[in-house]
Amino acid sequence: MFAVALTFSGGLATFLRRGWRENGDIVRRTLAEKTAVKDVIEACGVPHPEVDLIVVTDGEHGENPRAVDFAWAVQAPTRMHVYGVPAPAEVLPHAPRLQGGSPPRFVADGHLGKLARNLRLLGLDTVYERDADDPRLLEIMVADDRVLLTRDRPQLMHRIVCHGYCPRSDESEEQTREVLRRFGLKENGAGLAPFCRCLHCNALLEAVAKSEVLAALAAEPLTLRYYDEFRRCPGCQRIYWPGTHTQKLASLVARLLGKG
Ligand SMILES: [Zn+2]
Repeated sequence: MFAVALTFSGGLATFLRRGWRENGDIVRRTLAEKTAVKDVIEACGVPHPEVDLIVVTDGEHGENPRAVDFAWAVQAPTRMHVYGVPAPAEVLPHAPRLQGGSPPRFVADGHLGKLARNLRLLGLDTVYERDADDPRLLEIMVADDRVLLTRDRPQLMHRIVCHGYCPRSDESEEQTREVLRRFGLKENGAGLAPFCRCLHCNALLEAVAKSEVLAALAAEPLTLRYYDEFRRCPGCQRIYWPGTHTQKLASLVARLLGKG
């Protein structure tokens, strides 16, 4: 039996199990056997995709600080500092971070439909299947190397999850802003191109001549009279045009980008 002491920073305290959170900054655990540091951290409630840097030290006074990866085995009394994303640049500045290189592609779990729709509205490639079960979500995540978005913490702890995020807010607009901040997605940056993607099925919209939508919009004579620019979704065949609905969506985009 040996003791480990962990401190969490960078917003990770929110994941700590109730009761531990009130015990000050340090979580103390006793281990019976050699254990991967990933499992030690997750036993505290913190999913590994939320961890950017793990610094372990020797002795009571924090000697010999060094960064370790999730597979590192804890096998003797250890102190460790666990940092959320992004870890402060001044802490072991040359140590590789654990959460670099997330692809700007997402898969959202069945409870995050509004978040998924908002991300698509901003042009971000986001797979969402409302009825997808846990194995299906992981399958989609692996197939296209996507970031898993879920508030199901045990799901995020699955060892095959490389990139993931647990939205903190209950509210979809704030969740969207959280995702933009967490993955460094900015206007005019990679991946962000509002109104280029189908909100219903995630496909990229294609410009289409008015003559090609006349039949599909036969029941919308005013739309055909007032609009000349149309786009069609190659996935679900929906037709999009800059109608009044788009004004509402434009103000939503402004709010999501922090300009509303
Ligand atoms: Zn579509």
